[in-house]
Amino acid sequence: MTEPVTVLKGVGPKLAEKLAKIGIRTVTDLLFHLPLRYQDRTRVMPMGSLRPGDEGVVEGVVDHAEVVFRGRRMLLVRLSDGTGSITLRFFHFSAAQQQGLVRGLRLRCFGEARRGQAGLEIVHPEYRAVLDESASVDDTLTPIYPTTEGLHQLSLRRLTDEALARLDRLPDWLPPGVLNGAGLPDLETALRTVHRPPPDVPVAALLDGRHPAQRRLAFEELVAHHLSLARLRARTTDEPASPIKVKGELFAQLQARLPFALTGAQQRVIAELSTDMARPHPMLRLVQGDVGAGKTLVAVAACLHAVEAGYQAAVMAPTEILAEQHFHNFGDLLAPLGVNVAWLSGKLTVRARREALAEVAEGRARVAVGTHALFQEDVAFDDLALVVIDEQHRFGVHQRMALREKGNRDGRLPHQLIMTATPIPRTLAMTAYADLDYSVIDELPPGRTPIRTVAVSDKRRHEVVERISGAVAEGRQAYWVCTLIEESEALQAQAAEDTFAQLTEALPHVNVGLVHGRMKPRDKESVMARFKAGEIQLLVATTVIEVGVDVPNASLMIIENAERLGLAQLHQLRGRVGRGTAESSCVLLYRPPLSDTARKRLDALRATTDGFEIARIDLELRGPGEVLGTRQTGDMQFRIADLLRDQDLLDAVKDAAGRLMQACPENVEPLIARWLSGAEEYGRVG
Ligand code: ADP
Ligand code: MG
Repeated sequence: MTEPVTVLKGVGPKLAEKLAKIGIRTVTDLLFHLPLRYQDRTRVMPMGSLRPGDEGVVEGVVDHAEVVFRGRRMLLVRLSDGTGSITLRFFHFSAAQQQGLVRGLRLRCFGEARRGQAGLEIVHPEYRAVLDESASVDDTLTPIYPTTEGLHQLSLRRLTDEALARLDRLPDWLPPGVLNGAGLPDLETALRTVHRPPPDVPVAALLDGRHPAQRRLAFEELVAHHLSLARLRARTTDEPASPIKVKGELFAQLQARLPFALTGAQQRVIAELSTDMARPHPMLRLVQGDVGAGKTLVAVAACLHAVEAGYQAAVMAPTEILAEQHFHNFGDLLAPLGVNVAWLSGKLTVRARREALAEVAEGRARVAVGTHALFQEDVAFDDLALVVIDEQHRFGVHQRMALREKGNRDGRLPHQLIMTATPIPRTLAMTAYADLDYSVIDELPPGRTPIRTVAVSDKRRHEVVERISGAVAEGRQAYWVCTLIEESEALQAQAAEDTFAQLTEALPHVNVGLVHGRMKPRDKESVMARFKAGEIQLLVATTVIEVGVDVPNASLMIIENAERLGLAQLHQLRGRVGRGTAESSCVLLYRPPLSDTARKRLDALRATTDGFEIARIDLELRGPGEVLGTRQTGDMQFRIADLLRDQDLLDAVKDAAGRLMQACPENVEPLIARWLSGAEEYGRVG
């Protein structure tokens, strides 16, 4: 079965090349090249029951056909079947075609119904004349395969037919004991059903991806992914690392200076990572915690342990702004302990960069904070033993591994701590991060007050401005966040400056301040300091303040263009208020009309402040690829599995992976190869 596709009839070098483009090199690859979806040509749909978006077969008699000009030339054909009627619209058509479509002719069409100017229509349907009314429809669903230019569905269907003829030689790597009565069919049945659904298949289940045959394959695919991450993890955790065994004196000194006690969750997570780091193998731990859960201190504790043991630590964030805020936070906390923190970003002057590089290389800096710039070629550490990565979801598995190499010193790998504020349902996290241990800071520091959230149309902006007046009169402070969808800092800054000017004018009795990413760090700091001191009452800001800003007296937040932001980001922003004793509120200003999803997002925020609940809704709205940030990195791309739809399988997947490693370790590699053949770089980097 691992023979090249060229053993099949009619596959020469040219076709083989095309197939290779979509990852098909062997006969097995063909069998695991699964249909993306199905077309249902098994029954004729009454026109009267058709809804926009339905794809299917309709049959009727031509009432009327004409060529019209509506901006361009087109052929419109009116078809009816006694239950209703529909328009066929052609932009490209021949004279013969036009002449053939005469009144009274019976047509059978296939296509997708859309809402048109005069009821439903199908643009460029496939169609043919029906001469005999009893002409049969297809008796099976038509599989549609992922393909590439110049490779027809018909060729793919023919090739899979041939591959299916050899199916009995395909080994099943999941023995019955591993599949463990999940009620799923065997591999052969599953593949046959998915490629060539039999006539009696429950159509709705198959179209939904919930047929047992599909679940069997999704299950196997998830097991393969799980095993590949587990293998990656095993390779890493077998490597040596510097054991960090310390009393925790430095962190105790820091704690003694804090005006509050650690939460139970923070203590537990710090204990977990202390145990990890004391081992002579690299820690690989993901720490999740909602906004404001206090992740920074947990990261600081890990860094101080490394420093106390005589090593260096590196802290990396995905953006300049985030990195800069970490640099300030870490600096403020560590300076009094005599621990020197270096700053490495892409924006440093040549001289500042040279100086920072020397500090890091000579070990004068014990902690280095920065962006990706931390891991460029010319950065050398004196003795790096810990890498902290904030906001994991923006880095892929491969980037993570490249970082690890950076700390490789005489074959010892650094410990890795990954922090994320994106709460992900637990089973999903265990699948997506099967190569990591997993801790949750599931408790917020005490004294946080609930936040009341409202959504207000832009048309009532003046009421919102009055509300600021009121809050300020009561001695409280407010944020006004200007958001633009554009990544451009320049445009964001401009929007913030405009709003700043408007609000300064509208609120003559209020001290208004402005921060954005384009300001000089010194100016930014001075504005922030004045806001913290209560001198500035209203802070107009870009999403710079998404992270790190902490002013307990600020109890009102207005977020402009809230409809354009994602749930996770809105939740992060809102987390800036509700930190003091006053009741806090958040106003989501939106520009109507709201799209369906935007309304759902705003509703979700009004309904709850629980990060996990918000994450669950986010997952439903955006899908796992977006939520995990893996769509961009290419991790977790599945052929058939769907993390959302197949969530209920995930626990069983984990069990099965464990059992397979125990019972048939020799099946693990071929199973991974079968499903992740395009992704062998996992093995290469690790
Ligand atoms: P996040 O988890 O969002 O990164 P931070 O680490 O920025 O949260 O912490 C948010 C705020 O809570 C900071 O001002 C921090 O000083 C404060 N904080 C952290 N831990 C505690 C605690 N145990 N008790 C009270 N405040 C805390
Ligand atoms: Mg943070």
